[in-house]
Amino acid sequence: MLRKIEHIGIAVKDLSASNKLFQDILGVAPYKEELVQSENVLTSFFQVGESKIELLQATSPDSAIAKFLEKNKEGMHHIAFDVEDIFSEIERLKGLGYVMIHDEPKAGADDKLIAFMHPKSSNGVLIELCQDRFKK
Ligand code: ZN
Repeated sequence: MLRKIEHIGIAVKDLSASNKLFQDILGVAPYKEELVQSENVLTSFFQVGESKIELLQATSPDSAIAKFLEKNKEGMHHIAFDVEDIFSEIERLKGLGYVMIHDEPKAGADDKLIAFMHPKSSNGVLIELCQDRFKK
């Protein structure tokens, strides 16, 4: 079951400049910055009520964020939904014929297990499923 919008991911060129910008807009500082080595991205997270904003900056030209920024301007990159059981959601969506980028969940930023759906399956919107790695 999808429970809420966990976060919205925004691709940026310069994380520290964008941290300042979003701190001005949201009125709060990012609560963490995290390097996700496996994805070659540097991230920061802002809490906004029950949801979060994730800023993503590429740390290598191989990064999906670098490739996104070659084709697009800075801006919305993905919507992440909080799920109770990521394994069963992946199976459910595949069972309905949707294409997953990740057939198995992997470790993501902010203590999450994550899996992305292929945007060709979802009106061009990149959708991330995420589940807390540690029960709160
Ligand atoms: Zn994300």
